[in-house]
Amino acid sequence: MLYERSAGAVMFYYDGKRTEYLLLLYGAGHWDFPKGNIEENEEELETVRREIFEETGIKNLVFIPNFRHEIRYFYRKKGELVNKEVVFYLVRSYEKEVRLSSEHKDYAWLDYENALRRLTYKTAKETLVRAHDFLASIGGRL
Ligand code: ATP
Repeated sequence: MLYERSAGAVMFYYDGKRTEYLLLLYGAGHWDFPKGNIEENEEELETVRREIFEETGIKNLVFIPNFRHEIRYFYRKKGELVNKEVVFYLVRSYEKEVRLSSEHKDYAWLDYENALRRLTYKTAKETLVRAHDFLASIGGRL
């Protein structure tokens, strides 16, 4: 079995009234959060920052403290089973303009309900529920 570890972000834009989450359409056809492989000697937060920049062009962001959510799934790569772990952080973006890389086919800033509908996988939906609940719990302290 192969093992992979990625790090990513539930990234949101808050204009003082509404919160929108950024989802990407992966080449394989699923909607998910920005994320990518944790490279050797890289800290999780560094991976998240690097991947967000590579995948969206966004640099102007802030990590929201005390949120970290890990998921696991299995998929097949050229017939071989891959055991994959992805750790998600919560990131506030201060930019809405997205410059996609060739890895993704589309992007969308969506409110909570629509993002929840759009995400392809159950584990990703669960991650969004956690992040949204966390933001609600810190409320005005953003
Ligand atoms: P990364 O963005 O971490 O570099 P990647 O683009 O190589 O990863 P994944 O997004 O992990 O790959 O997708 C690899 C396979 O796993 C695809 O077939 C995808 O449909 C499937 N997959 C992605 N996310 C999930 C999930 N949360 N649950 C189950 N299967 C998933």
